[in-house]
Amino acid sequence: MAVRTLDDVTLDGQRVLVREDLNVPIKDGRIGDEARLRAALPTLRRLMDAGARVMVMSHLGRPKAGAFDPEASMAPVAARLGELLDCPVPVVRDWLEGDTVPAPGGIVLCENVRFNAGETDNDEALSRRMAALCDLFVMDAFGTAHRAQASTHGVARFAPDAVAGPLLAAELEALGKALKSPDRPLVAIIGGSKVSSKVTVLEQLTDRVDQLIVGGGIANTFIAAAGHGVGKSLIEADFVDTARSLMDKARAAGGEIPIPEDVIVADELSDSAEARVRDVDAVADSEMILDVGPKTAAAYAERLRQAGTVVWNGPVGVFEIDAFSAGTRALAGAIAESAAFSIAGGGDTLAAVAKYGVEDRISYISTGGGAFLEFLEGRELPAVAVLDR
Ligand code: ADP
Ligand code: MG
Repeated sequence: MAVRTLDDVTLDGQRVLVREDLNVPIKDGRIGDEARLRAALPTLRRLMDAGARVMVMSHLGRPKAGAFDPEASMAPVAARLGELLDCPVPVVRDWLEGDTVPAPGGIVLCENVRFNAGETDNDEALSRRMAALCDLFVMDAFGTAHRAQASTHGVARFAPDAVAGPLLAAELEALGKALKSPDRPLVAIIGGSKVSSKVTVLEQLTDRVDQLIVGGGIANTFIAAAGHGVGKSLIEADFVDTARSLMDKARAAGGEIPIPEDVIVADELSDSAEARVRDVDAVADSEMILDVGPKTAAAYAERLRQAGTVVWNGPVGVFEIDAFSAGTRALAGAIAESAAFSIAGGGDTLAAVAKYGVEDRISYISTGGGAFLEFLEGRELPAVAVLDR
């Protein structure tokens, strides 16, 4: 699907309402990681330079709808954006009233969209009020594109025109390249804690990829499905049959979902636990599997080095604790070294990417946790689909 972008519209003098994801962590009025603000800057600069009258919307935290809450105010975001853009960025509290449209080339930040009753329910009346503020709606927040809400979806239905912003367009292009026309072999790593949260992703990828590597708690369920004891490991008994049928399906298609040949175990999940290497068929009842073992990590790393495309979601061990981090570190390193086009996404995955300092050597870092997973599931993102009307 080719969505229309800023290249396809007039901006000069237009009232442009742009949805960004400026949902940064704020503690005691101070912004923590400001990556999301920096990511939005090129879009905002481009709109301002083109003479648009720019009104920016975002959510921040999870305030209760229906009232202003100073704790979730966009004020600190506006102050920081003003510094980064080197111009005043006023916060407009009653922006839905529509009397605070900036001059051409100017910018305002609308107060938290989630203060509005009806935002998360995609309320039509609210969506129409937003749409009435603008000549053009620009959806630029990939991380919220899987949610049909008033500021991501409803507004696009009723705005005079609606297009994808540069950030969203880049994200869709990178993900599309990885999944729709990948250089082969396409290798996916799906790790993390639970099969249940990623079962649709696993099903979809089993059909599409040349090699699916499972890790983390997810791998434990596959290890159990292969008939091995997993002791006290995190597994989901309800999903053992699902894991078995996915392995059968992969095999029938001439592929394989391998299980780790060796694993790292401990008696408990703690910083001080003693880590041991075990062959996968030798895990004791008192042990829990907390990482892939060194032979497995080396074998997976080799497959990643030979890949044409790599999709990575989910750490393959409890990487937050050093004793159980070697597998995730090895795979992060192998992806970084690989010549493959690589994309990584997911909250904890990005924490691992940052921990091992490989941000710059992964081709594309997806900004959207939930939206990234839904894209991998092959689902249409509602806030993208609506742009194509
Ligand atoms: P993401 O946020 O990247 O999608 P998830 O939220 O699915 O990833 O999973 C990340 C979590 O999975 C991490 O906190 C990690 O500690 C945990 N995890 C990884 N391997 C195991 C394991 N073997 N047992 C228990 N938890 C695990
Ligand atoms: Mg997570």
